[in-house]
Amino acid sequence: MNKYMEQTENYVLHTYNRFPAVFESGQGVYVKDTEGKEYLDFGAGIAVLGLGYHYPGFDEALKEQIDKIIHTSNLYYNVPLAAAAEKIVKASGMSKVFFTNSGTEAIEGAIKAARKYARMSGEKPGYEIVAMNHSFHGRSVGALSVTGNPHYQEAFRPLMDGVRFADFNDLDSVKAQINEKTCAILLETVQGEGGIYPADQAFLEGVRALCDEHGLLMILDEIQCGMGRCGSMFAWQQYGVQPDIMACAKTLGCGVPVGAFVLNEKTAARSLVPGDHGTTYGGNPFACAAVSKVFDIFAQDHILEHVQKIAPYLEEKLDALVNKYDCLITRRGKGLMQGVVVGNGVKVGDVVMQCLACGLVVLSAGSDVLRIVPPLIIEKKHVDEMAEKLEKALESLA
Ligand SMILES: *Cc1c(COP(=O)(O)O)cnc(C)c1O
Repeated sequence: MNKYMEQTENYVLHTYNRFPAVFESGQGVYVKDTEGKEYLDFGAGIAVLGLGYHYPGFDEALKEQIDKIIHTSNLYYNVPLAAAAEKIVKASGMSKVFFTNSGTEAIEGAIKAARKYARMSGEKPGYEIVAMNHSFHGRSVGALSVTGNPHYQEAFRPLMDGVRFADFNDLDSVKAQINEKTCAILLETVQGEGGIYPADQAFLEGVRALCDEHGLLMILDEIQCGMGRCGSMFAWQQYGVQPDIMACAKTLGCGVPVGAFVLNEKTAARSLVPGDHGTTYGGNPFACAAVSKVFDIFAQDHILEHVQKIAPYLEEKLDALVNKYDCLITRRGKGLMQGVVVGNGVKVGDVVMQCLACGLVVLSAGSDVLRIVPPLIIEKKHVDEMAEKLEKALESLA
């Protein structure tokens, strides 16, 4: 294990402080390192492995596609692209999709689509975007520009022009940032990296109303909270509020790198046209075979219903731990996207590290939040095992 860690540090640019584990294989909701140690995985590759490891039928679908064709290009049509596109459009009730290679690129595309829409629609087109403090949308220059975290931004200024920040769940602060140059409001339906903050019902409705009133596009980043994580295919579907553009990734490919931005009818009709946007790999048959199979598995195996059934049990267990331990302050979240605030002298990083030692993978978010984003297929026994291991970790810290 030390050999791989050393080799990695020798040759990979040091942009991550990695935990001391070299993961080599996985099965179901467990991952194994090169020493043969097994971990219960409640991090799921940062909310990516919605179906865990080696979900029945998933690998077979990927292998089948490899044996046919793994790449064409967007100069031609391909079979999995057609299937995956229909599935994501129908699942969202939206109109058109553009596939990307990551969440960051989905945000980039959403920003371009919003600016183009404004240009096609207005005489004095707006270009400003109102984004949220404590948001996370990615690390490329455009996506970083709308990420409300000065620490991530500072070294790379000047960033993209025309971004204003408001406070999440504070409609007045959003209103205050709107002017005649605004073209869109961008937010996560449930803030992830920022510390697991679900949007309030009234806030999301309020943002929609503001967009309608001022002729702005509402862009929802569902990269982490979408694809079943919160108990509906997309988190916004629980609010009865529809975005104009949605960004998606992470569980979309369940481990195969892929993202997408999806447009509603009015936005699709008046924004990006041939020549405006493109990518070599986006819509790649291999990635789209994964997306297509993920949607099939979700439908056939009732993954959403399962999340709705198991999530209250996870909440109940976490609430019991919050009651029991002084260092666990409060819990918040939606479905299988849960955060527990850690404090009273205990650091969340230490909890994550101790959990790892106890055979449990969990993540952190923000500066003090324990982030729990397990595969969507966990059972009660896995929740129990998580609670036991987390308790063991907390007791070893005390
Ligand atoms: C992970 C994430 C991104 C960035 O996605 P990548 O695939 O890492 O580029 C953007 N927005 C949210 C909400 C995310 O959780």
